[in-house]
Amino acid sequence: MLQIERVILSLEESEDRLQEKAAAILGLPPREIQALTILRRAIDAREEVRLVYTLRVKVKNEEKVLRRCRSRQVSRAEKEHYRLPPPVQPPDIPPVVVGAGPGGLFCALALARCGARPILLERGKPVEERAEDVEQFWTTGQLDFQSNVQFGEGGAGAFSDGKLNTGTRDPSHRFILGELVAHGAPESILCDAKPHVGTDYLHRVLASLRRELVSLGCDIRFGHQVTNLVLEEGHLSALEVQGPEGRYILPAREAVLALGNSARDTFEMLHAAGVPMEPKPLAVGVRIEHLQKDIDAVQYKAQAGHPRLGAASYKLSCHLESGRSVFSFCVCPGGTVVAAASEADRAATNGMSLYARDGENINGGLLVSVTPEDFPGDGPLAGIAFQRELEERAYAAGGGGYIAPAQRVGDFLAHRPSTGPGKVTPTYRPGVRWCDLWELLPPFICEALTQALPLLEQKIHGFAQEDAVLTAVESRSSCPLRILRSEAGESAVRGLWPCGEGAGYAGGIMSAAADGLKTAEHILEKIRKEQMP
Ligand SMILES: Cc1cc2nc3c(=O)[nH]c(=O)nc-3n(C[C@H](O)[C@H](O)[C@H](O)COP(=O)(O)OP(=O)(O)OC[C@H]3O[C@@H](n4cnc5c(N)ncnc54)[C@H](O)[C@@H]3O)c2cc1C
Repeated sequence: MLQIERVILSLEESEDRLQEKAAAILGLPPREIQALTILRRAIDAREEVRLVYTLRVKVKNEEKVLRRCRSRQVSRAEKEHYRLPPPVQPPDIPPVVVGAGPGGLFCALALARCGARPILLERGKPVEERAEDVEQFWTTGQLDFQSNVQFGEGGAGAFSDGKLNTGTRDPSHRFILGELVAHGAPESILCDAKPHVGTDYLHRVLASLRRELVSLGCDIRFGHQVTNLVLEEGHLSALEVQGPEGRYILPAREAVLALGNSARDTFEMLHAAGVPMEPKPLAVGVRIEHLQKDIDAVQYKAQAGHPRLGAASYKLSCHLESGRSVFSFCVCPGGTVVAAASEADRAATNGMSLYARDGENINGGLLVSVTPEDFPGDGPLAGIAFQRELEERAYAAGGGGYIAPAQRVGDFLAHRPSTGPGKVTPTYRPGVRWCDLWELLPPFICEALTQALPLLEQKIHGFAQEDAVLTAVESRSSCPLRILRSEAGESAVRGLWPCGEGAGYAGGIMSAAADGLKTAEHILEKIRKEQMP
């Protein structure tokens, strides 16, 4: 197979023309292209908006064609194939995966496909019931502490834009995307440069993945929270679990800790049990919300609204003289700002979209980098105390019931409380209370945002417009600690396998899922060695 980069189509040209264009680059008549696959499709909006493709094509006499065409756009296609490890015998004591987010689910999938028959413990509920609890929370402000935007099947990403791009390349990424498609995600994620599935498709995928796991012998237990460890001579021997019928002891030699970044009670328990961990930098800030059509107009100019483009997005960052960075995070085109709390009287925000991304507003995190030196206390749990304090202040400023404090950008920059919306109506439910964010966010966060907004305005005209809405507080973008693990993926407390975002080894759905696969590979290797005659 040959790979051809940078094949360009205008917005008016159909993909049927790709064969002709590929053939022209190769110097062949179009009929000599035997097969053509789109590997990647990106939007180039720098000047005239156009579509840029990477293609894989099959031709006869590949070597000869490659030698003759001499185009830098053409190369031999590299095989990037991820394979699961060879199967093992089901161990007498099954491996346990704690957490059914992307990290835990892909770890359980690999273990189950390789015959290890894992147990999957998830404190929250299956996604269908969870969706009802979340809707109830967004409508009434009544929060279920075990079933919410952070906890339950699918983990933190289950109510999200479902962005699947990563900053890294790993052969397992294509495998993960392929699995998502096999379980019901749209095929476009296989080739879009910035793939996203949206909350609607994610829920279908999760239900289908659950059915496969069960069919492979995985014992999935919803409503089961790990509350303590039983250790023998530095090795895990059992987990204490709180289930719907009460507390029980589950024998376990290997347990994957795919806990996500909001499992604060579990981090406290692990710390008390002596599991090594360290503090880590994080980022906190607000959600910023604009009219989607304003961002479309800046990004796509005269082509804004073209059906082949969809809703525009953005990725912004700037570095301030203070040494801090301010950057956009998890932008949700056509989406909504969501209440993402999981604890009593502590408010947190995030964002989500449906696959169609057809809402009126676009929102994104606007975050300031924070290091452990920025908050009081030391030790691995100090960052959690910092996040909690911010969330308590946000809750109080909202006046209770998980109403979020909000302010228009113009008022924020002028240090004046807002009294109501301008042209951007905030989408956060159960609602916002207009206020002055300077009264609740730490001064270093407000100062960094104040310096950054005009700089970001230079990159996207209208970004710092008066009526854009800031909703506080975005505090769960990353985990403030890392649970230490060896090169082989295991904690110094043997039998514990820290995994995914909560353990500090991933940031986002794809990297958490990839870390889940890697963790499964390590455990399977250990099981295989133990089973060797
Ligand atoms: C609203 C929102 C939108 C997001 N949007 C995107 C996006 O578009 N793209 C993207 O890449 N990332 C997004 N993210 C981030 C992404 O969701 C996370 O990076 C990812 O889910 C991390 O995966 P994980 O498996 O490590 O942890 P999680 O997904 O957090 O899963 C951890 C699971 O462990 C369970 N758990 C915790 N403690 C226990 C315990 N003691 N016992 C049993 N179970 C336990 C939790 O209930 C949870 O289900 C978003 C996050 C949020 C909150």
